[in-house]
Amino acid sequence: MRDIIKAIASDIKTSKHVVIFTGAGISVESGIPAYRGEKGLWNKYDPNIYANITYFLQDPSYYWNFFREVRYPMLKKVKPNKAHLALAELETVGNLKTVITQNIDGLHQDAGSSSVIELHGTTRTIYCLNCSQEYSMDEVFSMLEAQIPPLCSECKGKLRPAVVFFGESLNSQILRLAFEEAENCDFLLAVGSSLVVHPAADIPRMAKQRGAFLAIINIEKTPLDTTADYVINDEAGKILPQIVQSLKDD
Ligand code: NAD
Repeated sequence: MRDIIKAIASDIKTSKHVVIFTGAGISVESGIPAYRGEKGLWNKYDPNIYANITYFLQDPSYYWNFFREVRYPMLKKVKPNKAHLALAELETVGNLKTVITQNIDGLHQDAGSSSVIELHGTTRTIYCLNCSQEYSMDEVFSMLEAQIPPLCSECKGKLRPAVVFFGESLNSQILRLAFEEAENCDFLLAVGSSLVVHPAADIPRMAKQRGAFLAIINIEKTPLDTTADYVINDEAGKILPQIVQSLKDD
């Protein structure tokens, strides 16, 4: 294990444009469950009801009850973990240019990462479908005391979170930026992602096809393991600080 960590650190050191690609697994150690798997959120909450755009537009009350009971209390108490903090440090000790994340929790920004592409949006912003007025999670949580679903205080329009629901396309401009990073990087490190959700999972694949080194840190195996240069099946919060330390020691 030490050898592979040293090898990854050494390749990061000589790389000019390092990109990180993260998934739900990086936030598990902060207390946010991944969606899939035994302890996944979707085992408890049906994504066809709680995360589907058609269902949300028909009856938003399910989502807002879920937001009030589950999502908001969880996001209010979570903090970046050692993995998020190590990636923020990689901006100063390695040539980390961008973090591309599938997560909607905002923990990379809380940890101090300065360039984050959020492929699936963010739960931290909520906006009006009619007039685009934006609200914070706190503001909307207070509104939920009075009524569910909440309505825009400007125009009484329906509110929605700035996340990509199932049944919606990813924002094309954000996706283009992410693929540009995949084309331009010479090292891509994928962390805590099952690499099965597309088109997001095509980003590390493209980086590898364009000649970048590809490293994967994930507890479970992924479909890209056989094409990656390095694979570590272990916890992100344990491995990433060791990679950063190895870079500092060099
Ligand atoms: P996923 O649930 O499909 O895969 C997560 C992977 O992380 C799994 O393979 C698991 O083995 C691994 N993992 C779990 N704990 C880990 C740890 N401590 N260290 C390293 N690996 C660990 O998630 P994904 O690939 O991000 O895919 C999909 C979707 O999940 C995205 O659409 C994303 O928006 C959404 N999501 C986001 C959040 C969040 O914002 N925190 C939470 C759940 C799901």
